[in-house]
Amino acid sequence: GLAARLQDTLTKIRGKGKVSEQDVKDMMREVRLALLEADVNFKVVKQFIASVKEKALGQEVMKSLTPGQQVIKVVNEELTALMGSEQSKIAVAPKAPTIVMMVGLQGAGKTTTTAKLANHLRKNHNRKPLLVACDIYRPAAIKQLETLGKQLDMPVFSLGDQVSPVEIAKQAVQKAKEEHHDYVILDTAGRLHIDETLMKELTDIKEMVKPDEILLVVDSMTGQDAVNVAESFNEQLDVTGAVLTKLDGDTRGGAAISIKAVTNTPIKFAGMGEKIDQLEPFHPERMASRILGMGDVLSLIEKAQTNVDEEKAKELEKKLRTMDFTFDDFLEQLEQVKSMGPLEDLLGMMPGMNKKGMKDLKVDEHQLVRVEAIVKSMTPLEKRDPAVINGSRRKRIAKGSGTTIQDVNRLLKQFEDMKKMMKQMTGMQAGKGKKRGKG
Ligand code: GDP
Ligand code: MG
Repeated sequence: GLAARLQDTLTKIRGKGKVSEQDVKDMMREVRLALLEADVNFKVVKQFIASVKEKALGQEVMKSLTPGQQVIKVVNEELTALMGSEQSKIAVAPKAPTIVMMVGLQGAGKTTTTAKLANHLRKNHNRKPLLVACDIYRPAAIKQLETLGKQLDMPVFSLGDQVSPVEIAKQAVQKAKEEHHDYVILDTAGRLHIDETLMKELTDIKEMVKPDEILLVVDSMTGQDAVNVAESFNEQLDVTGAVLTKLDGDTRGGAAISIKAVTNTPIKFAGMGEKIDQLEPFHPERMASRILGMGDVLSLIEKAQTNVDEEKAKELEKKLRTMDFTFDDFLEQLEQVKSMGPLEDLLGMMPGMNKKGMKDLKVDEHQLVRVEAIVKSMTPLEKRDPAVINGSRRKRIAKGSGTTIQDVNRLLKQFEDMKKMMKQMTGMQAGKGKKRGKG
């Protein structure tokens, strides 16, 4: 992540009492390069650097953090702010049904997201959506939505490919009213490039049914291009939110950072895979942490350890708990562990953590090398989604890392335990905290 790039610069300024202008400049050069490399729009980068510089300069250094970490903290906060600060909820119309229109280029993930959103609304908000097939051009587009509807056991409204999408949308809303659906999700057509015919059709649909929400579906793998697409759609349609798909891929987050900054449209959901339940509300602070890299959160904890300021520790704990934990994070943790001592001590100092529960997670120095080799033999997909690691993959990983299948099995088990524990902690927290707001 970005944090790794900052390490060198960090070491140089460690131990200083105040962040100097030159320190900030040095770090900002690294941040700038990393953001550009992540395919963030250059105007956005420029603005971002300016605001971080201003905030970081001359700040009193907090007791528990080194100046370098303080800069990272500001970078993290500003990155989060750039992506919208808070989790942004889907619209609810004062009078049902709420009409949601999905728009975006071909292949962005509109149809998939239509089904995922319907699933999310039913599962988490107890809603009864009607899916609507307004893409009549792409061969098999209607069929695709119908198949997804069947999979969800949810109705799909379609009038075939001989009726205009505007008429389909209109009749679908009528039908939703009659059958008491509280959400109507319109899956519209896309093109490979933005063109007038497409835009005209979309504005016609918009005029006809007056959607409460127009969600721009953007493929996060398209990076810089995503911004141009977002700008055009927004100009024509005044979109109300964005969905960033394919965040499970090897994207570095450039689109996420740029879209909100350029269109001032909040990212509401993130697509995390092809499966129907792989849609998540978008959390700007998680994305910022992902871009920065998790290693730093841990090093911040380590530094805070000498001077535990309860509030700071709580904040870090929250970050750790809400983080999506992958094998990449695991590996980064191990690397941190090597340089700073036992993991259980580190986690033990977090409020509410029970040291006894950490027993099974103990990693001894000799094992570390082996574990590292195993993780490094995994493909990106395997690191993110260990569930795919079947027998033949285990064999390949063992061979690639010079270990045995038993070693691989043990590590997978350990990782699962760790994840389970993190989930439990999150559960505990949710139980204590306030209830989820209605969507
Ligand atoms: P549309 O043309 O905008 O309707 O796009 P589709 O919904 O047909 O999706 C295009 C392709 O992207 C399909 O193969 C989907 O399975 C895939 N896809 C959509 N969302 C995601 C996602 O979040 N992650 C991954 N990995 N694939 C996705
Ligand atoms: Mg489609």
